Parts: sequence; structure tokens; C-alpha cells
Amino acid sequence: MASPGPSNALMEQFSNNPYFSAGFGLIGVTAGLAVLKQGAIHGVTLARRRLLVTLEIPSKDQSYAWFLQWMSAQGSRRNAHQLSVETSFVRRDNGSVVSNFSLVPGPGRHYIRYDGAWFQVERQRERQMIDLKSGTPWETITLTTLSRDRKLFAKMLEAAKAAALAKEEGKTVVYTSWGAEWRPFGNPRKRRPVASVVLGGGISDEIVNDVRAFLSGGKWYHDRGIPYRRGYLLYGPPGSGKTSFIQALAGELEYNICVMNLSERGMTDDRLSHLLNHAPPRSIILLEDVDAAFINRAQTDKQGFSSMVTFSGLLNSLDGVTSSEERIIFMTTNHVERLDPALIRPGRVDMKVLLDNANEDQARQMFLRFFIGEQDLADEFIKAVDFKANDISPAQLQGHFVIHRDSARAAVENAQNLVTATATK
Ligand code: ADP
Repeated sequence: MASPGPSNALMEQFSNNPYFSAGFGLIGVTAGLAVLKQGAIHGVTLARRRLLVTLEIPSKDQSYAWFLQWMSAQGSRRNAHQLSVETSFVRRDNGSVVSNFSLVPGPGRHYIRYDGAWFQVERQRERQMIDLKSGTPWETITLTTLSRDRKLFAKMLEAAKAAALAKEEGKTVVYTSWGAEWRPFGNPRKRRPVASVVLGGGISDEIVNDVRAFLSGGKWYHDRGIPYRRGYLLYGPPGSGKTSFIQALAGELEYNICVMNLSERGMTDDRLSHLLNHAPPRSIILLEDVDAAFINRAQTDKQGFSSMVTFSGLLNSLDGVTSSEERIIFMTTNHVERLDPALIRPGRVDMKVLLDNANEDQARQMFLRFFIGEQDLADEFIKAVDFKANDISPAQLQGHFVIHRDSARAAVENAQNLVTATATK
């Protein structure tokens, strides 16, 4: 005969033991409560479903950045305890870093009031998922509000968009590469008039006209099946206005600028190619100091730099730009002699322009831009500095005029400082 199993024996013990009977009662109550709780949860979920509505904005969506910026401008920042800093920076080839910080609501829950209604804003960062394109964690913002206020979602997003676009109006947005995507760098900049960059000999008009002709000739390219792109190279000594001119040109055309540094850490041939093919609409791509990317390679490798753009990768990327939109690429260099002829052959670079140190004509024009109507002093200034014999950059001239901005006479009297400064350069 089989002996009673241990569980039966235990049950017998329990039923005869008053404490355990009470215990079973407790278990019953707890179970009952659990059921109730479960019911309550269901109830809450149901109520949530009926009363609340949510809207999810993934970080890939354009509204995402607009919304974060808009929210931080709503004053929620003052109350918010969790802020997040979004830093954008550009590292120049000379090692200097330009950065911009903006404080936006950090991950977590925030509450804002908009148009008489309350909204819960939950910014969530996925730990597991990384956006492969940008190398940043995948994020979402979930907005929750009462069902009856659902109409306000659209209104709120419209407001965020309008605020973002208003910031850009009449301004030039500068984008920099962020992993494999373009992101706005800092606040949009005020447009600089083309005439404020004084280039000698009608160069400025020549470039502006060429770009305009290119932009209006899309059909010609499409009819012939030629990639609709044009490349420009501005070369010459530092401080001759290459970058300033491109900025002014972008403003004139109402275009934005995508600045790319080929020696940037982590840049690879694939990323470069992707970036060149996926620039935001209406933008000029600017590859600064193209010579430095390859010249510095030996040095930077020793320092552990890991820019991996190869020269052939750059050529392939330039040739592979096939977007149906027009693509304008500007390259700048201080050392045109260091550039491989393959990089600047037609098709990759269609127009090469030297922006040089200041000549007399430029110096006079710049003088008169600072000291309006002072023709005679301008002449004296030109005589005081021998522009043919001295290499003086427009940037140096600008510096000199800024120092003496209160007195055109002082600018003339101290003109020799420019020559001495150049001699000791
Ligand atoms: P580059 O890119 O050739 O090194 P930048 O465009 O950075 O030179 O110019 C540096 C500074 O000098 C800017 O502040 C710019 O306003 C001034 N500058 C340079 N060239 C000119 C020019 N041709 N006309 C007016 N300002 C100039």
C-alpha cells in the first residue's frame, strides 16, 4: 500500500491547526484584494483609454526637435528638474572647437499647460535601441492629455513648427554632420549681405551669376541625364573671405549651409557618401580646408584620430551625388597646390576662384564701408600702405578698421601697424 504522500500529511496538519486555518483565510482575503486590485487596474486602464489620449513623436520625426525646443521656450524649463543639454559642436582643423548648448527637457515626465489644458510629456530613451544612422539612442516623446483636448495636439505641433521656422526666417541655418545625418548647428544666423564681402574684380558677381544660372538650368541637366550638381573651389590665403563669402551667398540665395569637416572623428567613406546624398533641401554643402583632411592623416593617426575618409572615398562620394535635387558643393583651401588634380577636375569642381590678399581696390572699398564718405582719407590710406608689396588679408584690414572704428583719421595714421604686423607674421 502506498504510504500517504507528504502533501496529504501536510494538508491534514494544516486543517487541524487553527493558525493555519486563519492563514488560509488571510490568503483568501489577499487573493480577493488582488482580484479587486486587478479589477481596479483594469478600471484605470479602461478609464485611461476612454478619458486620455496619447500622441507619440519618435526622434526620427522632424517635429521631435521642434517640439523639444518649443517646450523649453514655454517656461517649463524653469520648473523642470530634469534638463538635458544638447550640444552641437564643430571641430576646426586648427583644433579649435565651436560649440553651442541648448537646454531642453530631459528624459522623464514633465507637465505643461497649453491653451487651458494640461499635458503630460514623457521623454523616453530606449536603452536597447540605437539609431544606427546617427549612433544616438532611440527616443520618443509621448504626450498625454484628456480626450476632450485632443484637438490641441495639432495646434501645439503647429506652434512648435511655426516657432522653429520663425527662428529661421531671413536667416541661414548652418547644419553640421552628426553621425550620418545633418543637424542644425546653433541658432540660425542672420544673413550677411554679399556686398559686405569685398572681393576684387567682379569675382563676387561672377560666382553669384554662375550659381543662379545653374539653379535655373535644372531642365537642361535632366534632359541630358547629367547629374544636377555643380562644384566650386575657393582657394587663397587665410582671411581672404572664403567662408564669409559662402555664407553670404547662401543668404543671398535663401539657402542653408551644410558644413562638413572631412577629418572629423568617425567619418568614413560610407558616411560621407550618405551625407552628400542626403543634405537638407536648399542647402549648399561646404567642405572646408579640403587639403587638410589628407595632409594631416599621418600626424593624426599617431594621435589616435580615427577619421577614415580615404581620398578615393571622397572622389567616389563627389561623383556619386545623384540626388534629383540640385547639389551645390563648395570646397575651400588655403593650399591649392597641395590638392590632387583628380579632386579639382571638371565635374567635381566646375569653377575655381582665387580669393587673394587685399589689393588697393578692395582696401579702398572696405575702408569706405567702415568710414562712409571719407574718400580723401581712403586715398591717403591706400598711399600709406603699399598693397602690392605687402600681403595684407582682408581679415587683417577688417581688424584694423574695427580697432579704429571711431576715427578714420586714426585708421590712416596707424596704417603702418598693418605693415609691421604682416612683416612679423
Ligand atoms: P577665410 O575663410 O578665407 O579664411 P573668412 O571668411 O573666415 O576667411 O574671414 C575671416 C574674417 O575676415 C571674417 O570676419 C570676414 O568678415 C573678414 N573678411 C575676410 N575677407 C573679407 C573680404 N574680402 N571682405 C570683407 N571682409 C572679409
